[in-house]
Amino acid sequence: MLCPYCRTDIPEGARRCGACTSWIPDRAPAREWRRARQGKMVAGVAQGLSNQYGVPVAAVRLIVVLTAVFGLWGIPVYLLLWFLMPLEPELLRASPAPQTTAVP
Ligand SMILES: [Zn+2]
Repeated sequence: MLCPYCRTDIPEGARRCGACTSWIPDRAPAREWRRARQGKMVAGVAQGLSNQYGVPVAAVRLIVVLTAVFGLWGIPVYLLLWFLMPLEPELLRASPAPQTTAVP
């Protein structure tokens, strides 16, 4: 993997970069809810949550459908997640940019 600060190649899973001595962020991207590009049916919300928590995507979709049919809040919640969850990056690189980096 690459150090997100100096782009030096460092061992996989290293906590600290040997070149610039920066602490490596603790897998911040994994905590993000992201809509999936692969395997999505509508907006990728269910697939994204499935990827995040390792639960079957069918179970997530079942919950969405059941809450939509019986509680009528499944659809607004889905639309809200659609709006709130960022789409996952097009290419999953070995070293995603750190969360602290400002978008130019
Ligand atoms: Zn570094």
